[in-house]
Amino acid sequence: MEKEFLQELIAFMQQKGFVWGPEPEIYGGMAGFYSYGPLGKLLKNNVEYIIRKTFQKNGFFEVEFPTIAPKKVWEASGHLSGFTDPMVECKKCKSSFKVEQLIEELFPNKNVKDFESFFKKHEVKCPNCKSLLPKDVSNHNLMMKTFVGIGGEAYCRPETATTTYLQFLRCYDFFRKKLPFGVFQIGPAYRNEISPRQHLLRTREFTQAEGQLFIFDHQKKDYKPFETVKNEKIPFWSWSLRKDDKTVKKISLGEALKNKWLKNKAYAYFLYLTYKTFLELGFPDDRIRLNQHSPDDKAFYADDAWDIEVKLNSFGWTELCGVHDRTDYDLKQHAKFSGKSMDVLDEESGKKKTPHILEFAYGPSRITFALLDIFYNKKSEQEGKTILSLPPRMAPIKISVFPLLRKPELIKLANKVYDDLSSSWLCKYDETASIGKRYLRSAEEGIPFAITIDFDSLEDKSVTVRNRDTEKQKRVKISELKEKLFVLLKQ
Ligand SMILES: [Zn+2]
Repeated sequence: MEKEFLQELIAFMQQKGFVWGPEPEIYGGMAGFYSYGPLGKLLKNNVEYIIRKTFQKNGFFEVEFPTIAPKKVWEASGHLSGFTDPMVECKKCKSSFKVEQLIEELFPNKNVKDFESFFKKHEVKCPNCKSLLPKDVSNHNLMMKTFVGIGGEAYCRPETATTTYLQFLRCYDFFRKKLPFGVFQIGPAYRNEISPRQHLLRTREFTQAEGQLFIFDHQKKDYKPFETVKNEKIPFWSWSLRKDDKTVKKISLGEALKNKWLKNKAYAYFLYLTYKTFLELGFPDDRIRLNQHSPDDKAFYADDAWDIEVKLNSFGWTELCGVHDRTDYDLKQHAKFSGKSMDVLDEESGKKKTPHILEFAYGPSRITFALLDIFYNKKSEQEGKTILSLPPRMAPIKISVFPLLRKPELIKLANKVYDDLSSSWLCKYDETASIGKRYLRSAEEGIPFAITIDFDSLEDKSVTVRNRDTEKQKRVKISELKEKLFVLLKQ
């Protein structure tokens, strides 16, 4: 069922110009590289817009740093030694496999924690040629290696975060030497996955939107904005809970701090903010949960880590964002390797200290996939109808404008309405095919409102506004159209 749905969804994304690939398609494609077609790019832009707005509302500034950095940076960050996946190669057919993926696929009901030792204890056959796989597991580094100039060893960034930390001192000056402050980057990152197979959820090139809050340790514990949200509830699904209770619990942030599910107020505040962003992105509340990383699967740099997971129709619960307390690990490492001190004055104690970092790592590529997965609705085969029921604020194109028939007087008025609305929203004008077909096309593309200009419009200066989801139609005066749509499109 899920597999069938996934195939159908991918076909829909390709046909309607959302996602193409794997690229380059005409050369057979490389796994893990995808393109955004016209509608996909618009949808992803909307995702990034919501994330950007959330950061900016909280005083974060956007920056853009190079995506390639020399080897030394990745030695310092820990990625060169620690950012690896255990892999195994079939001696017979030479295929490579990620050990974790093999075990999850071959033993789906076993809850394996240590993949490497599990692999060594069990006989595992190559999925391609069925011969027995060897026991020697090697570590595959996930970074993409490149060269700068002649022989200068460098790597494409596997996360935007590290490249942000390199400019901590400049940012510190920009914020007039006052902590806490935040900056964020939205841009590409690269991971040389062994065999990516989950469409946009696991790719080798992808977009990240990562915010970094630089904050002193004592400020984390005593973070004033927390008071404004302490009674807000969020859906926790902690690893410490999971042992005896598999349900999601909505409890307040204040309670979560008391229970020690969360470690400090600043972290709690930003975890809430991230959860809220997912509601704003359009995800239904009952499909969201917060999952804490167990001590075993926490990234090498994280002191505390929670994922925002969303339940997809295709892949089930899927991580779309991570909130990490990276402590003072990163700045200490870069100070050590670069020889530049990253310690700055803490006015409270009068001493110089290394700031801590809280990180909010969104995956806009994954979020775009998730929105298509959840809001893609195929109605019954007989009806032949597909509706992409994205919330209007997330829809790639907001309004379609149709003259009922191809008559000059209707086309003239329709063009006038289109021009007027286009100055505020992205609209689509369509005069081909029957009106029924145009409504279907418009719904498939996720356009929330369709406006039709008919002969009555010439007399009463009104148009028909059709709601994509309810299919209800309303007459609206052209002079009041913008005002009405402004409210409708905020939903
Ligand atoms: Zn093989």
